[in-house]
Amino acid sequence: MRTDGRPPVRPRRGSDGGSDAGTESRIRCAATAERDAELLRKVRERRLRAVLSAAAGTRAYRKSAGILRQGAEDAAGHSPWAALDEVPLLGRGRRRPGAADAAVIARPRAAAAERAAIDRRLFDALGLPPSFTCTAVVPWREPPASGPCLYDPRIRRRRLGLREAEAELAAGGRPGDLLVGTPAVCAALRAAGADAALASAWELPRPTRALLGIDHGGPPEAPAELYTVAEMTAPVAVRYPDCRAMHVNADAVHVEVLHPVTRRPVPTGTAGLLALTDLLNTAMPFVRCVVGDVGVLLDAAGPCACGRVTPRLLLLGRAAAPDSVTARLTVDAGPRGVVRHLRHVPDELRDRLPDGGLWLSAAERHPLAVWADRVPITTPPTGALMSEPDVPVRRPVTSIDGRDA
Ligand SMILES: [Zn+2]
Repeated sequence: MRTDGRPPVRPRRGSDGGSDAGTESRIRCAATAERDAELLRKVRERRLRAVLSAAAGTRAYRKSAGILRQGAEDAAGHSPWAALDEVPLLGRGRRRPGAADAAVIARPRAAAAERAAIDRRLFDALGLPPSFTCTAVVPWREPPASGPCLYDPRIRRRRLGLREAEAELAAGGRPGDLLVGTPAVCAALRAAGADAALASAWELPRPTRALLGIDHGGPPEAPAELYTVAEMTAPVAVRYPDCRAMHVNADAVHVEVLHPVTRRPVPTGTAGLLALTDLLNTAMPFVRCVVGDVGVLLDAAGPCACGRVTPRLLLLGRAAAPDSVTARLTVDAGPRGVVRHLRHVPDELRDRLPDGGLWLSAAERHPLAVWADRVPITTPPTGALMSEPDVPVRRPVTSIDGRDA
């Protein structure tokens, strides 16, 4: 009890990472929502209404303000999902008019606390304690950095180059309790003896590459995988260690799949462009944001075998330029971006392609050897450590076989 006459300091909800009732209840809700369809439905609807209401007051969505307000209204006959269908897509280059160069995406404190609760269900699935060190391992060289996690101060964040992480492992050290990197970085870390790695979907993991006929076989590079998009408050989807499917964080992000040409929603089970709506961020709403990734929402006939009721997503990679409306599933797989047409569409995808097919770019974005060994210290992309799949592709100055490109 304070005796200096000032009122007691109320713990900041969710920001101190402590055990205040708000934080605990958020964590409980996040853990339950992915296994309780009715709770998930209610949480999603409530959050969508709040986001539509917030979007209606912004300049970027002023032309759809009427629809957004209608969707936000909590009254019989007003479905926020029906209203969402009417909101124009937010494409690349058209995001946040007037604030296109903003490096920081404003998020309200509540969104950060919700993100922490949603991350916690992944960390629990990985068997991590409340307080631990999460290290983002980047494939290029850069000075190590560390500090508290933006979302949960109990978690310490480090950022380390791959070679430095390998050196720590070789010296018997532990670069972090959880190591996050691209699938190729995770494979390198595992080869160096790391026992805890989490792949972030910057590049295609081995199972997806096998699915697309680029290479065959091999287990995933890490026991769990994240699909993150810079604009979204929370990861869009997670592949947990106990399930082969990638589950959408449906209480944080709403995923739509659109036909690559008509931009209309395709039936469940058909591949297309992903349009994302952030259900947490009311400070800077992102509604129906087309991020350039391609995927399929799989048929969800009841809960998944793992018990989760959230939709399952098959992420296929980045959309390539639609040069033709008759394009087929086409993969850009060479180290120098040589286009390779998949003449034989893999069986698993045959029934999932939209009319006209898809153009995919599946080139390695970060050929590991080049980045780790040849590129001097440069300015890496900035932003949240686990939220960088949307970073523009930067081709290395030398090709993977060491010759000048
Ligand atoms: Zn599952």
